[in-house]
Amino acid sequence: MSRILVVEDDLEIAGPLIRSLQGAGYSVALVGDGKVAVDKVKNTKPDLIILDLGLPTMDGLDVCRSIRAYSMDTPILILTARSSELDLVVGLDAGADDYLTKPFRTSELLARIRALQRRTSGGEVIELIGDSIRLDTEARVCWVSEVEVPLTSTEYVLLELLMRNAGRVVSRQQILRDVWNTDWSGSTKNLDMHVSALRRKLGDAGHHVATVRGLGFRFDRS
Ligand code: CA
Repeated sequence: MSRILVVEDDLEIAGPLIRSLQGAGYSVALVGDGKVAVDKVKNTKPDLIILDLGLPTMDGLDVCRSIRAYSMDTPILILTARSSELDLVVGLDAGADDYLTKPFRTSELLARIRALQRRTSGGEVIELIGDSIRLDTEARVCWVSEVEVPLTSTEYVLLELLMRNAGRVVSRQQILRDVWNTDWSGSTKNLDMHVSALRRKLGDAGHHVATVRGLGFRFDRS
């Protein structure tokens, strides 16, 4: 179940909003203060944030910027009475994903939430900033310098595992367990062959997949 954090100081809006969200099966938490909202996001890592703009202690746009500085990918839907195009642009610049003008219909809000969840969870992209390798973990596609690299599913899963743990050594055991579902150490040669093939396909970017002797492998960002 998705956990939604509602940041809204007006209880006449928050009350019915929360009931609608709960009725639609979401688990909902409410915060009515900007600074508290930022802390709450850090502590509870909600799946989606519905954010009012006019808030005590910290403006919604600043809340949005603070959340973005901390977490790049939590979907944020801004609720606002401000409806000018300029406000929309400022809101999106601050890092919001979508924007709904008050008053709104519940059905419209729920549709926007579903679309947002599809877009964000459906298109989760691990991106290495300043680097040439990019993975789309939903489509399971790998690009090097924006050119798609045709990986086998095993090579792809292996690369994703290493990239998710970038900078840390992933042991052979863990790779065998996660990629091949086995603890059989005899298949470690098989693992080496896949790593070699993966490096070859990545071309110049293959050096990111480093062998750490006696331990396992590590994805190096640089
Ligand atoms: Ca408000």
